[in-house]
Amino acid sequence: MELETIIGLEVHAQMNTKTKMFCACDNNAWEKAPNTTVCPVCMGHPGTLPVVNRAVLEKAVRSSKALKCTVNERSHFDRKNYFYPDLPAGYQISQYKFPLASNGIVKFSVTDPKTNATTQGECRILRLHIENDAGKLMHRANHSLCDYNRAGTPLMEIVTEPDLRSYKEASSFAEELRRILIAAGSSEADMYKGMMRFDASISLRPKGDTKLYPRVEIKNLNSFKALEKALQYQQKVLEKLWSEGKQPTGETTVGWIDDEERTVLLRDKESAADYRYFPEPDIPPLSIGAAFLAAVTQGMEQLPSEMRSAYIALGLTEAEAAMLVDEPQLRERFDAIQVAIQEPKRASSLVLTQLRGFLTEHGKSLADAPSPNQMVELARAISSGTINVNAGKDVLEKMVLTGKAPNVIIKEEGMGQVSDGTTLQKFIDEAIAANPKAIANFKEGKTAALGAIVGAVMKMSKGQADAKKVQELLLKTLTEGT
Ligand SMILES: [Zn+2]
Repeated sequence: MELETIIGLEVHAQMNTKTKMFCACDNNAWEKAPNTTVCPVCMGHPGTLPVVNRAVLEKAVRSSKALKCTVNERSHFDRKNYFYPDLPAGYQISQYKFPLASNGIVKFSVTDPKTNATTQGECRILRLHIENDAGKLMHRANHSLCDYNRAGTPLMEIVTEPDLRSYKEASSFAEELRRILIAAGSSEADMYKGMMRFDASISLRPKGDTKLYPRVEIKNLNSFKALEKALQYQQKVLEKLWSEGKQPTGETTVGWIDDEERTVLLRDKESAADYRYFPEPDIPPLSIGAAFLAAVTQGMEQLPSEMRSAYIALGLTEAEAAMLVDEPQLRERFDAIQVAIQEPKRASSLVLTQLRGFLTEHGKSLADAPSPNQMVELARAISSGTINVNAGKDVLEKMVLTGKAPNVIIKEEGMGQVSDGTTLQKFIDEAIAANPKAIANFKEGKTAALGAIVGAVMKMSKGQADAKKVQELLLKTLTEGT
């Protein structure tokens, strides 16, 4: 029996607001001492009142728009009750029945790892809602420690429809979602810092069947790699069950053990009733009007897919366009050069090939890269003929190594292109005298023989002669001489 894989994702993305969701505590807990960015509100003390951070709403609305969701005019918060030591209030303030936004869509590209061929995919977004994060537990040998710095950090939970059909589609979607959230300015989505986490649901069904079978939910996947591996693993488990005629009859929840690359059964999945949801009595319903929507979404940056299309329209390859979209620092330099000289091929060669190459070669990061202004100065020097392309490479390498401006390097090294007629003519006369055979060939009609003379002139000028001018002067010398 041929089986089809059905995957849906729930994504939690930490929002990059200055303060937490319901209090004025610092929202950036990275590398802060445990329990130092807390207050009675985010510690869930009785008698405190949560107040919704306006920036959370603004950023969540921008993200909803970027995901092509409808932002609901009315939404409200609910209490999701459960006990866990990292949840000081004993409940999470989330949105259950009336989420902030619903019905979006994300388009993404999937590259086949074997053939490198790219196909386009689509995944519908069921809903986006906002809620607060819990703290963190650190387990030691015989005890556990609580750090509540993260408690109260705003999260966006984004739930997809079960539209994904392979682990590769799931990770490609997740990567595109990450780009969109970064472009919307709502999350750093730094995987290393755990700012984006996934729960993935997977089920199988006979190909052609339209109904959905009970799914397995894999909890807390913290990287694209873990997402792919866990889905691949769980798919094999399910395929085995189906082949033995023992397909799952109820939903289950499993956890992914990264080191062992396997899942373990956690518990039967809680139903909504287990959480005893009820409307949050301390926060009034949200009412998002047209004026708020317009103000918040005004001047939104292009979506990553739109940016990619624009770069491809300039003549860049898919891979080059993807690189620019994924690396804002490269993009900033490419855009600056493109605006200045309007030569996309030269801009992509300078930024994506040469600059990246030299940074890697010399063990430098993008943070050490020459500034956009310096890159523009270099591009102008090449484009205007002050230096040739090869000299440009040397200048760029020196810029990476010394941090000096290109014009300073060109001056110091005497790298300016030689285009002075008298100097060039002297080189040409010498080259003609030294290459009688090439001249004889040229006179027999073999024009390609001139290459040897131009080469000789370039060598004499240490690569600094203006090759085009040499070609012109040489032809003039030879034709006038005969
Ligand atoms: Zn607080």
